[in-house]
Amino acid sequence: MIDWRAIDTVLLDMDGTLLDLHFDSHFWLEHLPRRYVELHHLDEATQETVRSRILHEKGSLNWYSLAYWSRELDVDILALKREIQHLIGLRSDALDFLEWLKQAHPRVVLATNADRESLELKLPITGLEAYLDAIVSSADLGVPKEAQEFWFALQDVEPFDPERTLFIDDNPRVLESAREYGIRYLLGIKQPDSTRPDKAIKEFVALDRFASIFPGNSPPVGREDQAHG
Ligand SMILES: [Mg+2]
Repeated sequence: MIDWRAIDTVLLDMDGTLLDLHFDSHFWLEHLPRRYVELHHLDEATQETVRSRILHEKGSLNWYSLAYWSRELDVDILALKREIQHLIGLRSDALDFLEWLKQAHPRVVLATNADRESLELKLPITGLEAYLDAIVSSADLGVPKEAQEFWFALQDVEPFDPERTLFIDDNPRVLESAREYGIRYLLGIKQPDSTRPDKAIKEFVALDRFASIFPGNSPPVGREDQAHG
């Protein structure tokens, strides 16, 4: 499915691709609205208003900015995230894939919309850093991955040949943006959130397990082969 000889850069999304999106979905749609209402002594119904306010920013840099939401909602978003940080974790066989990439050594770059505060929370918990050659946050570039400008800015800080690059992301809008820029190999994620049903992605091949794209699961050498030396 993937000819690894044709690839020298792998760009990886974080949330929903390497990490289980369950933490984020649960935080933004359940935990934060509930804690907001508690902290500001508002009635239960306000939770719905908070959810709509959050969803209204979807896809913008604000959507991904902890500072923005701390200001907007007058709460300490990072502290609230820490309350449920036990839900932060790697997706299925992401670690096996990262380990394989490390020994196959294409350049491996995290290309994320998560801001630096999110990264500071998630990187130590997940140990991702050990497997990455570089980490690029759209917050540093001033434009989200959904926009074309992101890819030009990424190219400046982290040069890559789009013809020899694989990009994996669970967000079809982001994949579309990468395709428009000219990245040749694109893959989606079938189930970004382990507690929710598969997502319907029609435009892109979506991965079930990373194992389907790297040759790590070839059968071990059998006894007979060993006997023949
Ligand atoms: Mg994602």
